[in-house]
Amino acid sequence: MPHKAVVIGAGTAGLVAAAALSLAEPTLQIHVLDRDELPQGPENRRGVPQGRHAHLLMAGGLSAMEDLFPVGVRDRLLKAGAHEIALSNGMLALTPDGSWFHRWKRSGPHMITCTRALTDWVLRQILLETRPGVSFHRATVEGFLGDARQVGGVRVGQDADAGLGPELEADIVVDASGRGSGSLAWLAGIGISGIEEKKIDSGLTNATRIYRTPAGAESFPLTLVQANPYNGRPGRSAMVLPIEGNRWMVSAAGTRGGEPPRDPEGFLEYALTLPHPIVGRLISGAEPLTDVAVSRGHSTDNNRRYLEKAGHWPERLIVLGDALATFNPAYGQGMSVAALGAQVLAREVRRHGLTGPGLSRRVLRGAARHVDTAWSTAVGVDVLYPDVVGARPRAADRVAAWYTNRLTRAATGTYEAASALWDVTSLTTPATRALRPRALLAALTGPALPKTSEPPLQPSEQRILDRLTGAAHPTAAPRPGRTS
Ligand SMILES: Cc1cc2nc3c(=O)[nH]c(=O)nc-3n(C[C@H](O)[C@H](O)[C@H](O)COP(=O)(O)OP(=O)(O)OC[C@H]3O[C@@H](n4cnc5c(N)ncnc54)[C@H](O)[C@@H]3O)c2cc1C
Repeated sequence: MPHKAVVIGAGTAGLVAAAALSLAEPTLQIHVLDRDELPQGPENRRGVPQGRHAHLLMAGGLSAMEDLFPVGVRDRLLKAGAHEIALSNGMLALTPDGSWFHRWKRSGPHMITCTRALTDWVLRQILLETRPGVSFHRATVEGFLGDARQVGGVRVGQDADAGLGPELEADIVVDASGRGSGSLAWLAGIGISGIEEKKIDSGLTNATRIYRTPAGAESFPLTLVQANPYNGRPGRSAMVLPIEGNRWMVSAAGTRGGEPPRDPEGFLEYALTLPHPIVGRLISGAEPLTDVAVSRGHSTDNNRRYLEKAGHWPERLIVLGDALATFNPAYGQGMSVAALGAQVLAREVRRHGLTGPGLSRRVLRGAARHVDTAWSTAVGVDVLYPDVVGARPRAADRVAAWYTNRLTRAATGTYEAASALWDVTSLTTPATRALRPRALLAALTGPALPKTSEPPLQPSEQRILDRLTGAAHPTAAPRPGRTS
C-alpha cells in the first residue's frame, strides 16, 4: 500500500510541500486540501487575500522551487509573462539616507515579479502535469486525528468534497494553512500545549493598485522608494513593479501612523510625497485598471511559532510557510522561506523515510534556520518604528540596525557591499554573509562612489518619466491640489 499524505492549504507553502513529498517519495498519495474552490487560472481568491499585493520571488526561493519542480519554474513563469529583474541594474531604489543604488554593469542575483496568483497557478499546473500522486480537494480542516505521540490524519468540515468523509487518515500531515492556521488549537486537541509564540507588529498597511504599463515603458526598471526606519517616524514606502499582462503593480506601504489611503487621490498623493516623488510621477500618467486594494494590521505582522523548541512534538506532523512564521512583507521573504523549508522536508524524507522516527523534529529544526534569517531581517528593522507592538529595540537591535544602515549606505556605491546585501535579501546565504571582511570593511569606510540624490536613469528612461509626469491619464485620479 502506498503511503498517504495530507497537505493543508494550496497556497505557495502547500504547493511546495506537495512537491517536496512527491519528489522524495514518488508513490505517495498526496491530498492537498483547501477551504477555497481553486480557480481555473491565475486568479485571486478569498483564502489568499494578500495575493492582491506585490509578491517578489527572491533568488533563494526560486532556486529551491527549481530543485523541487525540476522542470523549469523560472522558464514557465517567464513564459506566462513574469519578469526577471537583476538586482544589480534592473532596479531604481532609494535608500533611507536619501541616496540611490548605483546600477552596476556586473550582474548580481535576479528576482521574479508577477502576481502571486500566477506563481501559485504555475506551481499547481506543474504538480498536476508531473506528479500523478498529487490531488486537490475542497475541504476545511478542523482538527488533527491521533494523539500527542503521533498525528494520524485530519478532521474536515461538512463543506468537504463528496467522498472525503469527516476523517482523513494519513501517514504524514503538513500544515501549510497560512497565518490563520489552527495548528495551535488543533495541537491542544491532541494534548499538546504551551508552544511559545511571538508577534511583532509595526502596524503595516499595504495599498496596491494595478495600472496598464504605459506605451514605451515596458522596460522601465522596477522602482522602489524604501521606508526609513532610522528617523523615529512611521515608515512610508512605495514601489512600481512589472507583472504579467503588460501591467504595473504599484504598492504603497506605511507603518502605524503612516498608512497609505484607499482613495485614488490620496494614493497618488502618498506616492508623490515620499522622500522622492518618482513613483507618483510614474503613475500620474498611467492608466489605472483596478481600485486601490488595502490590507491592514495583523495580516502583515511578524508572527513566529517556535515549534522546533516545543517540549513535546508528535511524529508525522510538519508545519511550513506562514503557519510556521510570517514576516513583514516589505522584505519579500515568505514564499522563499516556504520553499526553503520544503527543500528541507524533501531532503529529510529522502534520508530518513516518510515514517522515520524524529522526521518532524528534524524538518522543523531545518526550516527554523531559514525562518531565523528572514526573521532577523524583518524584525531587526521593524522594532525601530514608532508604536511597534510586541517588542522594544534592545541594545543589540540598535547595533544591528546601525550596521545594516551603514552597509546599505555603502551598498549604494561599493560593489562588495551591494553584493553582500543582495545575497542576504535574496535568501541565498545566511545573514552572517553581511559580516564577511569585505562587506564589513565597505560598511565601515562608506560608499566608494559619490552619493546620487536623483535616480540613475538612462536618457530613454528619463524621457519616459518626463512624459508621464503630470500627463494625468484621463482615467487616473486628479493630481492632489488640482481643481478639475
Ligand atoms: C501584503 C503582503 C505582501 C507579501 N509580499 C510578499 C513578497 O513580496 N514575497 C514573498 O515571498 N512573500 C510575500 N508575502 C508573504 C506570502 O504571501 C506568504 O508568505 C506565502 O504566500 C506563503 O503562504 P502560505 O502558503 O503559507 O499561506 P497562504 O498563502 O495564506 O495560503 C494558505 C492556504 O491555506 C488555506 N487554508 C487556510 N485554513 C485552512 C483550513 N483550515 N483548511 C483548509 N485550507 C485552509 C487557504 O485557503 C489558503 O489557500 C506577502 C504577504 C503579505 C500579507
